This record gives sequence, C-alpha cells and structure tokens, in this order.
Amino acid sequence: MNQPTRSQQTALVHNDYRAPAGFDAFPTPVHRASTVLFKNVEAMRSERWKDKSAYTYGLHGTPTTFTLEARLAAIEDGRFCLLAPSGLAAIAMVNFALLKTGDDVLLPDNVYKPNRDLGKWLGSDFGISARYYDPLAGAALADLILPNTRLVWTEAPGSVSMEVPDLPAICKAAHERGVPVALDNTWSAGLALRGFARGVDIIMQALTKYQSGGSDVLMGAVITRDAALAGRIALAHARLGLGVGADDAYLVLRGLPSLKLRFAAHDAGARKVAAWLKGCPEIARVLHPAFADCPGHAIWRRDFDGAGGLFSVVFDARYSERQTDRFVDRLTLFGIGYSWGGANSLVMPYRIQALREDWQGAGILVRFNIGLEDPDDLIADLASALAVL
Ligand SMILES: *Cc1c(COP(=O)(O)O)cnc(C)c1O
Repeated sequence: MNQPTRSQQTALVHNDYRAPAGFDAFPTPVHRASTVLFKNVEAMRSERWKDKSAYTYGLHGTPTTFTLEARLAAIEDGRFCLLAPSGLAAIAMVNFALLKTGDDVLLPDNVYKPNRDLGKWLGSDFGISARYYDPLAGAALADLILPNTRLVWTEAPGSVSMEVPDLPAICKAAHERGVPVALDNTWSAGLALRGFARGVDIIMQALTKYQSGGSDVLMGAVITRDAALAGRIALAHARLGLGVGADDAYLVLRGLPSLKLRFAAHDAGARKVAAWLKGCPEIARVLHPAFADCPGHAIWRRDFDGAGGLFSVVFDARYSERQTDRFVDRLTLFGIGYSWGGANSLVMPYRIQALREDWQGAGILVRFNIGLEDPDDLIADLASALAVL
C-alpha cells in the first residue's frame, strides 16, 4: 500500500490506509487533535471557529468535546456550552468575557474562595471593582447595583457555609437594571437546581465534581441560552486559549450515564449522616440545605429538587481548633482533601472566621463530602473520631 518511492521514514509519517467507515459503538470516540485537516483551501477559508458547524483547530473543539458540550447543555436546558480546563477557568472565562476596566461585578460573600480571590485580582490589577454581597440579600441586591455593574455572580448554595440564595429575587433585581446573572451550579450538578428556570443567564459548573465522579479530571463548563452572550463567552474562550483535551472530555462523558444515580446515592448518604450528626451534642449546627439549621432552607424547599453529598457542620464553640483538628485526623474513611463529587468521602476544616465577619465567635466549621460508601460505616467512623473530643 505504501508508495514505493517514499522512504521508510516518510512512510512512518504518511500512510494512505483508512479504516473502513461504518464502525459504531456506544462510547463517543476520543478525537485527539491540535491540527484539524481541511479538505481544500476553500474549505479552510470558509470555516469559522465561532460557528460549531465545522472544525478548525483542536483548541476550538473536536467531535469529542462538541458531544460533551451538547450533552451538558441538554442537562441544563441550555443552548450553548463551552468547556474550560477547570471550573475556575470557566469562572475566569465568564469574567473576562463580560468585564472590562471601569466595570463592577457583584459576588456573594460566601462565594467559592478562588472566585473571591479572582475578584480581588480584577480589582488590584485590572481596574474592575469586585464587591461582595450578603448571599441572603435577595431583592435587596437592587440597592447594590451601580450604573457600571456588568455582572452578578451567585452560588447555590455556597459550598462551605451553605446559605441558599433567592435566585428569582436576585435575578429580578439584576435584570431590572439590565445586568446578567451567572450561577455557579456545581453543588447541584445541574440536577437539583434548574438555573435557567430560576432566571439566571449563565450557568457555570465544575465538571471536576459529580459529572466526572472519578476524582481524576479537572474541567469546567459554561452554559447559556442567549446567542449574544454565548458569542461573547466564545470569544474569551478562544482569546484565552481555554480548550480541553479529548481524553479528559472522554472521562467526563463516561461519567454522565450514571450521574443522576450517583447524585441520588450521595444525597441519601449525606442526609443520613447529617441527621446522625444533628443528634450529636458536640455539633451546634448542621449546614445542609435540607435541614432547618441551614440559612435559606425554605428557599431550598421552594427551588430545589434534591441535594448532593456536600454539607458542613459547626462544632459547639467550646471546642478549640486543636480539638476539631484531632477529630478530623482520627477519621479513617474520610480523606482530608479539597474537591468532592467522587466515590470517596472527604472532610475539610475551614477557617471561615478569617474570611467572614458574621462568623466571629462561632464554633469550628468542618465540611463533609459524603461519597458512595455505606453511610452506616461512615457514621461508625464519625462516632469513634468524635470520642477524641
Ligand atoms: C470545585 C469548584 C469550582 C472549581 O472547579 P475546579 O475544577 O476545581 O477549578 C468552582 N466552584 C465550586 C462551587 C467548586 O466546588
């Protein structure tokens, strides 16, 4: 088959064999590509990267990433989706798409910490003011919107202190002033909270969590319904070079069929463990949106359909950080680590007092991600670790 006039070395690079067409199987093929080949010069000149009807360059997508984008958009009832190499990159992509020097952005005070830090950086180095609002502000957000406010971030619930915001009220206040609202919908994986139905314009998700489910990939997504907004975000995606690798996209695609079942299992396990912790004298509060202790619980009941594996507890103020650190160290089934959404349970103590004034004098906050272990085994582990207190 090889051209006899070509050297062996050239034959190692160029080969005319093509596998027969017509192969079909359930998994999405993994298309790894930087260069994408055009049929001819005319095709190269006519195909545009912004319009996902064709392929132009690996950075702008392959059949593997287009497939994942389409499936994520469908889960959220959106129309457009763009992938980024991490959840944080997806957040940054939205900010750089919609904000410029002189603009103002509002972030909830309980926002994902790296998003808060990004806001500080926008302020110090880019001339964009980032202001932080009470996540329970609801309609009162209207008083905070300035003529130069261009974006409002929300997170439902905050992923450490768990306040559930009133999204319809926040969106109404923002939209009356023409300001779009972005939602970090990572906690719900697009399942328990339908963001567009609550009024938001942009949904961001860290696919690193439940969608992957394997604790082995970092990825983010931004989903929209409005073509103009999607176009602006696509520009930032391309300008910042935020493409993702096909192997990583495949890992997330592999997790999708079991997403809802895993989410329901995390939810059931977390509620059982949280209910047990609620009965422990060492615990002052259980911050799980399905529990009445949680600020915004009534809103969760109104707007959400389920929970996930993530919740926090606040220890009684009589326990020192040294004591609660010993409790965390004693746990054997809970890994000490960031992130969540995988099969393994995780635990993380937070110094929330250093971040938030309203937490002065409160006990130590410890966050749990309930994995897919038997909840009774997790409860037994918690009981023996609590004994060190
Ligand atoms: C994890 C997380 C992110 C960021 O995702 P990465 O992929 O880790 O960058 C953003 N928001 C929330 C609420 C998260 O939990």
